[in-house]
Amino acid sequence: MISTIFNFKKKKFSLGDLGLPELAAGEVLVKIKASALCGTDLHIMAGDLADKVYDKRQIVLGHEWTGIIEAVGKKVVNFKKGDRVFGSPHIACGQCEFCRGGHSNWCNKQGIFGLSRPGSHAEYLVAPQTVLFTLPPDIGFKEGALLGDTISIAYHAIKRIGGKMNRVLILGAGPIGLTLGYLLKNFGVKEIFIMEKGAYRQRLAQEIFGAKIIEASNFLSIRRTCDSAFETSGSLELMESAFHSLRRGGKLAILSINPKKYPLDTLRLMYRELAVFGCFGYPHEEVLEFMKLLESKKIRNDIKKIITHQFALSDIDKAYELFGSKECGKVVLEVK
Ligand SMILES: [Zn+2]
Ligand SMILES: [Zn+2]
Repeated sequence: MISTIFNFKKKKFSLGDLGLPELAAGEVLVKIKASALCGTDLHIMAGDLADKVYDKRQIVLGHEWTGIIEAVGKKVVNFKKGDRVFGSPHIACGQCEFCRGGHSNWCNKQGIFGLSRPGSHAEYLVAPQTVLFTLPPDIGFKEGALLGDTISIAYHAIKRIGGKMNRVLILGAGPIGLTLGYLLKNFGVKEIFIMEKGAYRQRLAQEIFGAKIIEASNFLSIRRTCDSAFETSGSLELMESAFHSLRRGGKLAILSINPKKYPLDTLRLMYRELAVFGCFGYPHEEVLEFMKLLESKKIRNDIKKIITHQFALSDIDKAYELFGSKECGKVVLEVK
């Protein structure tokens, strides 16, 4: 089985045959059809998450995928050979207080594909049945690759904020920022503002959800007027804009990975009754909830618009080069 292998020293990918591992009880072998690139991968490659990486020399990245089940191990129920599936990046233990209480994303024992074990930028992936979801027949493999992470994380962040939103600021128009905009528009949010420096992503945000672009020159037009803000950029400068955009009682959701520390102005939080939410992964059940909204057409399936580029597995270096340049939306590897 061909895998893409990223070497931390050489900072380069190569293709290699790592062989097919034996399936343990409860595991399935998935023939990967599509595997998406994610901003988290760039942090892994840069070494920001080195303490969590399963092999310090090299890694098979990828945690947003779709595929077809090729083989099932013992004790696999509900899934069989030939099923079209997508999966969660997070492998929760299923036993702890959090898992049993509907907060699998809080599980202390969870593993993550493409970080704590080999990921999906490969021809095959071994996955426990607990991470699998059925891919509906009307959703293609490429768009389906966004369901288990990008879309579910954005949906979870919107649920974390909760309540009715009218004026929202999204910081950063990368794949997560674009997905938030797409979902918020579907949920009827009237005004969605975006702060994003890159012209390519500004244009995408305008096309996908009619984003109004905010820059330093027109920031006053939204200052202290937004009921919610979503930080997806990882820029400390924009964090400050997020707080300035919020009206009293406003809420800020943080979805970005930022290795740098940000000094929190607690007086501002207190005086203006602001709330800050961290968002990490999502509870398993929320995916099923989201899939129902999609199926009942309460949310339009515009996922395709978020994907701007696709590459073959062998062109993975080119794919990450483009992704790193930010002249793109979501980038997906197509696996033949
Ligand atoms: Zn991801
Ligand atoms: Zn657990």
